[in-house]
Amino acid sequence: MILSRRHVLLGGTGLTLLGCSKKSLREFQAGRELAQVLDAQATRDGAGVSLKRALGHRAIPYLDPFLMLDEFHTDNPNDYLAGFPDHPHRGFETVTYMVHGAMEHQDTLGNRGRLGPGSAQWMTAGHGIIHSEMPKQERGLMWGFQLWVNLPASRKLIAPRYQDIPAGHIAEVELEKARVRVVAGTAFGKTGPVTGIDVEPLYFDAALQPGAELDQATPLSHNAFAYVTEGAVRLGPSGREVHQGQLAVFGPGDGVVLRGAEGGGRVLVMAGRPLREPVARRGPFVMNTEDELRQAFEDYRTGRLTVM
Ligand code: MN
Repeated sequence: MILSRRHVLLGGTGLTLLGCSKKSLREFQAGRELAQVLDAQATRDGAGVSLKRALGHRAIPYLDPFLMLDEFHTDNPNDYLAGFPDHPHRGFETVTYMVHGAMEHQDTLGNRGRLGPGSAQWMTAGHGIIHSEMPKQERGLMWGFQLWVNLPASRKLIAPRYQDIPAGHIAEVELEKARVRVVAGTAFGKTGPVTGIDVEPLYFDAALQPGAELDQATPLSHNAFAYVTEGAVRLGPSGREVHQGQLAVFGPGDGVVLRGAEGGGRVLVMAGRPLREPVARRGPFVMNTEDELRQAFEDYRTGRLTVM
């Protein structure tokens, strides 16, 4: 008989698993239930870009180690053309993931990258960068996401680092009734291209047709959430339907359960190891104390933000 990957992961012989219920064949024992479902908030940022903030607003300011998740999704150029001209960051990482359209990234030290459809950039601001993020098209659909990930106190002032991932380098997995792109971490047997990140992130984008059944182990230590980007997806062992524009926070457990809903849907799933450190944040800086924040603004003002 043919042993499936699940059998192998359980260390079973296949025979011993005959007759087991579907649940016992999961790669994990205790799937995470949903702790909270929240609507993303419409807002503006940069030079007037319309976006939806799924994480990092009043109702959910922080989901350790994740600070923010923004979605920009529009075919009206007035919503995005102004872009994000020169602005600083210190003390955390920004992760940009594009579905449609193109953005150009450029920093004051000469680093430059073009993010096309399906690409990602994991940017570790560390000690400090000053950069612009500008749309590279004048019409058409722009659809992308930016996630902010915190850095541990001991690593907030490291040298900046860029991981630019072209669309073709993102790990793609074809499953029954589902298609998954893995940006970071390992899911469904594939490991994403982003490496060396402190919080050991999992970041994947899953498109689920009706009837799809996806189970993915996640470290017990990690916090996890999902953001539905199209249609609807049923999440958690109880299969609660979560809709486009909703953030679902997973509770404790050792895996996530995703099921296709009627009409299908698409969802970003992220997990990371919480830092459990104080967070002092204002605008583009994320530090541990008010003093460090003051220092960041002072360094920016005096031109020392990017001087190590
Ligand atoms: Mn930025």
